[in-house]
Amino acid sequence: MVAIDMNSFETGPIRPPSEAGSYLLRLTRGCPWNKCKFCRTYRRLAFEIRDVAEVVSDIDAMAVIRDDIKSGKPALDQNSWLVENALRSGGTTAFLQDGDSLAMKPDAVRHILGHLHKRFPEITRITSYARSRTMASRSVEDLTSYRELGLTRIHIGMESGHDPLLEIIKKGATGDVHIRGGRRVVEAGIELSEYIMPGLGGHELSKGHALDSARVLNQISPDFIRLRTVCLGPKLPLWEEFSSGKLTRLSDIEIVKEIRTFIAALDVDGAKIVSDHILNLLGELEGRLPTEKEKLLGIIDSFLSLPKTEQELFQVARRAGMLEKLSDLDHQGIRAKAEKVLAEIYRHYGKDGVDEATQEMMGRYL
Ligand code: SF4
Repeated sequence: MVAIDMNSFETGPIRPPSEAGSYLLRLTRGCPWNKCKFCRTYRRLAFEIRDVAEVVSDIDAMAVIRDDIKSGKPALDQNSWLVENALRSGGTTAFLQDGDSLAMKPDAVRHILGHLHKRFPEITRITSYARSRTMASRSVEDLTSYRELGLTRIHIGMESGHDPLLEIIKKGATGDVHIRGGRRVVEAGIELSEYIMPGLGGHELSKGHALDSARVLNQISPDFIRLRTVCLGPKLPLWEEFSSGKLTRLSDIEIVKEIRTFIAALDVDGAKIVSDHILNLLGELEGRLPTEKEKLLGIIDSFLSLPKTEQELFQVARRAGMLEKLSDLDHQGIRAKAEKVLAEIYRHYGKDGVDEATQEMMGRYL
């Protein structure tokens, strides 16, 4: 028997950047796979599917807090701040947690979506993370019923479409599984956001990673393709592959070249490329395919044609969180600060040490 607290609700550790203003509703704890070598988000958490009654109680608690805040009651605790944050963004979106929420049985998901709609009829967008393998194990009919109950978008961490790399990172899915899972979501009429991890395969697998990821996405035809550059650090199991020399790390510039190969090979009608993660060097790499493909390649080429010191200046400014776009470097204040940081890096790491320094800066995001 599960003890239910009617006055509070539970949330998980993460949500995509695009869900920063959403209500967070936890259906499961952790990830049923939990083996990907670049991920330690749920490493210490045993996977659990929450009891439906618990989730329903969370929805009721959230609704009570929403009504209290709307009637002027101050938000004084963590749960109230979360609800207040969602209301500040309009209170019309919700995100289902954790890493593979739709691993829950279809009838339970339907019950929860139905109750969420009853208590929050104003919500117009509900999204969730899911694994390709889980989506491939659900019927189009089940997924269609989720859409009819309000589930509008699914985020899948595809990472790559290149089988040798998927094997190395222990993704638990092949390119074919990604295609089957992704197609089910698309056929059910749910928006699909697929995440790709540039730099993941190092020098050795860079080309296969770029081209097979594009090939798999071309067959899935998702609505969004999100870039999330790999971030390496000794605390990750993936580090072994790089420290043992099996894979060798790409520099920031080489990752940009890999992204160019990837985008050039994409042939997806209507998908939007999104670069909304701090780990991506080029934050402005956003546009719809195929109409804006040339624009995207043009942004990359503009960066690649910059003199080395300008590229380094941009690199350090971006990694220090000072800017997003190439044109931000024209801002005198930003430029002056970036020049100071670059001079420091030259002093401590030498003229060839910019990559080493910026990789350490990125490691802080792990
Ligand atoms: S499936 Fe997702 S949440 Fe689970 S271990 Fe892999 S990356 Fe992490």
